[in-house]
Amino acid sequence: MALSSPKPIPIPTLTVLDVPIHQTDMATALTQIDTFVQSGVPHHIVTADASMLVIAHEDAELKQIVQSADLITPDGAGLLWASKRLKQPLQERVSGVVLVEKLCALSPERGYRLYFLGAAPHVAEQAGEQMRTKYPGAHIVGTRDGFFTADDLPALLEEIRSARPDILCVALGIPKQEKFIAQHKAALGVPVLIGVGGTFDVLSGNLRRAPLWMQRLNLEWLWRLLQNPTKISKVKLLPRFVQLVRQHHK
Ligand code: UDP
Repeated sequence: MALSSPKPIPIPTLTVLDVPIHQTDMATALTQIDTFVQSGVPHHIVTADASMLVIAHEDAELKQIVQSADLITPDGAGLLWASKRLKQPLQERVSGVVLVEKLCALSPERGYRLYFLGAAPHVAEQAGEQMRTKYPGAHIVGTRDGFFTADDLPALLEEIRSARPDILCVALGIPKQEKFIAQHKAALGVPVLIGVGGTFDVLSGNLRRAPLWMQRLNLEWLWRLLQNPTKISKVKLLPRFVQLVRQHHK
């Protein structure tokens, strides 16, 4: 990208359970990501929700990775609740699904090259096809499922490197995707690496997003649970999150 290279924007943070969360809305996050792309050097972006903060509370490696990420966006109703309790209310959620879709929409104009890594076989590929159809000219330069083995890893890393993406979206679930990014970002040399959880399941059309009224009432978690009851283990982390925030932020 032969554009001038603006400096990253200083974005204030709010600390929840020892993790700094950037007080950013979607538009600011996209501007920041643009500065990262243009810098050409690796930047890790985390979309943090309540379940991630609970897992990080018990997983020191994950906590350290999130603490040193370059952009940590607030995702999920739990974090909005915590921000109100801390009297530093966050404006809006910046979720992986919306972020990835907006980056695809900007891809033709900004020249972003995106690579989708993760989810079950064919799902990332379907998500890529959907994005190309919806945003003609979007550069999805590669897709690969998230069920690779340690033996597959060297070839996979080489495949990503040779596709030369600006943005690598990694959907392996928490904490696997954050650890993957931390471990391989230097070798991959991709300027923007984002952990995006179940994003490809949604963008591929395999999993529908909650109706708008449910999203507005912050009930997306309930919709996900109704669609996929195995998600109960994740939903169970919400009361634990509330308890931890009450203990740590009196
Ligand atoms: N996944 C994967 N490889 C794995 C484990 C999970 O690609 O070894 C994918 C899974 O198919 C799903 C995503 O990772 O698409 C995790 O989605 P979830 O909504 O559970 O993410 P989280 O809540 O952990 O961010």
